[in-house]
Amino acid sequence: MSDDFTLAIIKPDAVRTGKAGPILAIINEKGFEISAIKMLKLTTAQAESFYEIHKGKAFYNSLVEFMSSGPVIAMILRYPGAVEEFRQLIGATDPAKAEPGTIRKLFAVSVQMNAIHGSDSVENAQREADFFFSKVERF
Ligand code: UDP
Ligand code: MG
Repeated sequence: MSDDFTLAIIKPDAVRTGKAGPILAIINEKGFEISAIKMLKLTTAQAESFYEIHKGKAFYNSLVEFMSSGPVIAMILRYPGAVEEFRQLIGATDPAKAEPGTIRKLFAVSVQMNAIHGSDSVENAQREADFFFSKVERF
């Protein structure tokens, strides 16, 4: 697989409120290629592990609870410069600070319920893609 991929998650708030379709349409329109996709509900332990980089921060426990509160849609997305380009497309963590037209500006409801995750580095994209997908689930 090309190194130019990122790991995205449509978060429980967005799935719950019917935003998955519109978000996928934006991702498609921007030219990102879906090379893996699945819907799943994270266990508490899985959410703790995925976000272990944030362990100890004030928002960690509530983030874990939120991310395991309902189904999410995880994806590997391919695109030249995927990590950086996708971070641009999703916008700032805090939707109040996100640029107009970004996915978080359009669909987030709070800093925590900010609709979507995108890997923050090539190294983390690799780790996060391996977290969700086995080799035979990646195209
Ligand atoms: N988050 C939160 N409170 C905060 C900061 C972050 O609940 O004060 C949540 C939010 O859902 C965010 C996730 O924790 O997307 C991971 O935080 P990070 O700083 O890595 O932001 P991201 O990389 O997702 O923009
Ligand atoms: Mg992050």
